[in-house]
Amino acid sequence: MEYDLTNVSAVRALLASHGFHFSKALGQNFLVDPTVSPRMAELCGADENIGVLEIGPGIGVLTAELAERAARVVAVELDARLMPVLAQTLAGIENVKLVNADVLKIDLLQLIEQEFAGLDVVCCANLPYYITSPVIMSLLERRLPLGSVTVMVQREAAMRLCAPPGRREAGAVSCAVSYYSEPHLLFDVPSVSFMPRPKVDSSVIRLDIRKCPPVRCGDERLMFRIIRAAFNQRRKTLLNALSAGLSLPKEQVGQALDEAGISRSERGERLTLEDFARLSDIPCIRGVPQ
Ligand code: SAM
Repeated sequence: MEYDLTNVSAVRALLASHGFHFSKALGQNFLVDPTVSPRMAELCGADENIGVLEIGPGIGVLTAELAERAARVVAVELDARLMPVLAQTLAGIENVKLVNADVLKIDLLQLIEQEFAGLDVVCCANLPYYITSPVIMSLLERRLPLGSVTVMVQREAAMRLCAPPGRREAGAVSCAVSYYSEPHLLFDVPSVSFMPRPKVDSSVIRLDIRKCPPVRCGDERLMFRIIRAAFNQRRKTLLNALSAGLSLPKEQVGQALDEAGISRSERGERLTLEDFARLSDIPCIRGVPQ
């Protein structure tokens, strides 16, 4: 039997038959707008040569759309109570595998290598909002073999994630996103599209993973330490923020900023990735204590 997973009364009846109650703590807002999942599945590039890693399938509304287009879908869901629901809603769909696990704890590289041999892989998900940044950062930083990451996140988070470094809206996470990927804001999704309805609107973004970073630096880890220090105290001047964040004397930081051609009174939010990379290559900052 095929389920209409965007029909609110049908979904209510289905969940009631399993004695399921939404968990706010797990970010459970299920999509009930029939236009959104097909659009996400199209825009993530799912086709017969692609494997899709989905995070948080819920009751399978996006999973079913992905499975219609992709060669294979592997969906990682933390809430064990949803496993029997998914077994029912996705029954008969052969190219879906469900994994009951925490996406932040499971070995995603091993999962991808085991499940998607011979396929190009993308990630597509309506992310649980409480772990948006950690999930995106772990997908990017671990350099998983993914072509792109298409995710629905809160609108404010989408703006921050896609903001180019050097703009006021940018933060440390925007710098990381721009370093590892080319971000695109795809479309907005109003709060009425979900059950239960969240307080805020959402947006879908796609991060096209870069094959090579857009800037060169000698020590990537140091560059990201500098970025975090600059944004940890973003209202302070770089001189003060970096001196406090990296535990370095102000004179040493000042000298590094001078050598990198960056004003001592500049704020981190004005720096581009090129600025951060150049600064991390200055010898007197490379000796920063670990
Ligand atoms: N994809 C469904 C949809 O669009 O209707 C559900 C999206 S809902 C916003 C987020 C889903 O992520 C929920 O099913 C929730 O149980 C699951 N989830 C929450 N934390 C998780 C985690 N750490 N690992 C895997 N799944 C998680």
